[in-house]
Amino acid sequence: MGLAHDGYAPRVGVLEEQTWPAMREGAWPVALLPFGATEPHNMHLPYGTDTILGREVAARVAASCATQGVMVAALPAVPFGVNTTQLDLPFTINLMPSTQLAVLRDVVRSLEPHGVRALVLLNAHGGNELRALVRELQPSTSMVLTIVNWWQAADQDVFSVAGDHAGELETAAIMHVAPHLVVPDRSTWGEGNAKPSVFDGVRSGWAWMPRRWTQVTVDTGVGNPRAATAEKGEAFVAQAVERIAAFCVHLAGVDANAMWAER
Ligand SMILES: [Zn+2]
Repeated sequence: MGLAHDGYAPRVGVLEEQTWPAMREGAWPVALLPFGATEPHNMHLPYGTDTILGREVAARVAASCATQGVMVAALPAVPFGVNTTQLDLPFTINLMPSTQLAVLRDVVRSLEPHGVRALVLLNAHGGNELRALVRELQPSTSMVLTIVNWWQAADQDVFSVAGDHAGELETAAIMHVAPHLVVPDRSTWGEGNAKPSVFDGVRSGWAWMPRRWTQVTVDTGVGNPRAATAEKGEAFVAQAVERIAAFCVHLAGVDANAMWAER
C-alpha cells in the first residue's frame, strides 16, 4: 500500500519539519535559535508576535542561505522571554534570565558534537538581553556564539515611527507574515502612547531602569501602529532576511580564529 502523498513540502533547514536522514546527511555549519516572548501586544496583535516573527525570519534566512549553498538550521523558537515587568498582565509568561542561560547552555551542548560551528541567537524581544548569556557561555564552547536583534537588521526609515512594542514596525511585520492574526478594525487599536520617565538621565539614555509596563502604557503598546501596512512589513522583513542571511553565509565560511581582520 503506497502511503505517499503529493503535498510533502518541508521548508529547507526548518528543523521542526526535517527528517532524521535530512539532518544526518550534509553539513550544517550554522544554526539559528529564535528567542521570542509570550505577552500582550497592544489591542490588535497576538501574544506570540515576537515568537512568530523570530520563527518566520529564521525560516526565511535558512531558505536564502540554502540558495547560496550554505545549509543553516532554523531551530524551534524559544516561545518565552524575559518579562519580569509585565507579570501583572494576564498570561504573560516570564522566563528569568538565569533560566534562559540554562536553556541556552543545554542547546549549545546539544549542538556542539554535530558540526555546528556558529550559533546565531535570533532575538525578537527587547527584554531578552542575551549578551550576558553569551559572555558567560562563550569561554566554555568552541562554537561561535552571536546575537542578532532581527528588528535592528533592516533600515527602519520605511516607518514613520518604528515603535518599541506593537508599534508600526511589529504591526507591519505581522500584517505581512500572519495577516490573519491582526485585528482588522483599526479603530480598536490602541495608540501606544508611552509615558516618559520623570528622570532626566533615563530620558537621555545614560541611566536605565526597567519599565513597569502598566504604569508606562494603557494599551500595552509602545509606539503608534496606525501607519503600518503589509507592504512596509514585506520590505522591512525582506531586507532583514537578506542581511542576516549574508551574515550567516559569511559566518559559515570564516575560521573561528580569523574573525578579526588585520587593517
Ligand atoms: Zn514584540
